[in-house]
Amino acid sequence: MSRSPYLVYSPELLSYNFGPQHPFNPLRIKLTIDLMQDIGLFKPGCVMPPSDAQLEDLLLVHENHYIDAVKRTGGNGAADEQDTQYYELGTEDNPIFAKMHEAACLLVGSTLSGAKRILSGQADHALNLSGGLHHAQRAKASGFCIYNDLAVAIAFFRKQGMKVVYVDIDAHHGDGVQWMFYDDPNVLTVSLHESGRYLFPGTGTIYERGSRAGFGYAVNIPLEPFTEDCSFVEVFDKVVPKVIAQFKPDIIVSQHGCDSHEFDPLAHLSLTTNSFAHAANGLHRLAHKYCSGRWLAAGGGGYDFWRVVPRVWSALWAEMLEESVPERVPQHWLDKYKKFVKVSLPETMKDDPAAFPPKPRRDEISEKNILSVEKTMDPKFLMKGDPEQATIVCR
Ligand SMILES: [Zn+2]
Ligand SMILES: [Zn+2]
Repeated sequence: MSRSPYLVYSPELLSYNFGPQHPFNPLRIKLTIDLMQDIGLFKPGCVMPPSDAQLEDLLLVHENHYIDAVKRTGGNGAADEQDTQYYELGTEDNPIFAKMHEAACLLVGSTLSGAKRILSGQADHALNLSGGLHHAQRAKASGFCIYNDLAVAIAFFRKQGMKVVYVDIDAHHGDGVQWMFYDDPNVLTVSLHESGRYLFPGTGTIYERGSRAGFGYAVNIPLEPFTEDCSFVEVFDKVVPKVIAQFKPDIIVSQHGCDSHEFDPLAHLSLTTNSFAHAANGLHRLAHKYCSGRWLAAGGGGYDFWRVVPRVWSALWAEMLEESVPERVPQHWLDKYKKFVKVSLPETMKDDPAAFPPKPRRDEISEKNILSVEKTMDPKFLMKGDPEQATIVCR
């Protein structure tokens, strides 16, 4: 018998805002919540407000001097040269905004609120669409991410002695989370992303497997640009269920960035809504099969916030609720927003595959992706936790 899932949300979460010119625009969350309301999925009994993360929560994964720098720059409204040089605060990717620390704390607190609700047994699943800030590092902002809400939640579960699998399907490599638990054999990180040859942050090769006792507990599948649904689904199915079955985690923590969609302006993958629905459904089933239902999910990247994010993330929440989405995007939502955009808004909740003609190099791309899967899943390395083998690989 499953317990109801929780969506962690309050309008205050929209305060994490780098300004109108920045791609990480909180409007994408507002558009998604509005769509959920229009399709009847924003159920008051399943929505919980976030609480702030405390300093001790942030310190689970971040350095105190970095937190001080975030507080100071957000308080001043500006960064000095050192803040930019050492902490990457005040860069083009991570500009300073007023009360940045407070806004970032609330994002972390939201994911943590979901984590606590799952741990207490009040919920099987929880979702924080404002979270998923997978690039933030111990003492550095990175790629629009100030604090790493996912890593804080994972560290929280680790404190309870739990084994955690982290699955990241954002177009960008889940580097921040990976590096924070690179030595830990009780955290298996799995990232399916566009190859770092072509995209920020440049990491996530098949050779990043973890270190020391954590050797074999980082799993990376770098996908070729223009990867389509058929290849993504094949890769997901060959990797995620297998590593979870072998690892036997207590909880799944997942990041659902949808910047791997064909329309996304920042990355070069060619997925449609079908891949995201497949991943959400797969993780949901695996959570019930191996983790007594425990599944904590977050949003992440996604920069076509008119055409992609609201539909993909509404469908993710519908998956948690075990409800289906309607065939058509409600007219009320389309009428409300179509006057603001030059592009035409999709009228169906799911993409029609016929509207996405096959890419010319489809077979070659699929073959390359499967080659990466075979190398990554090599039993000589996977979940070995053997420092000797780590040495061999590094040579
Ligand atoms: Zn991304
Ligand atoms: Zn469920």
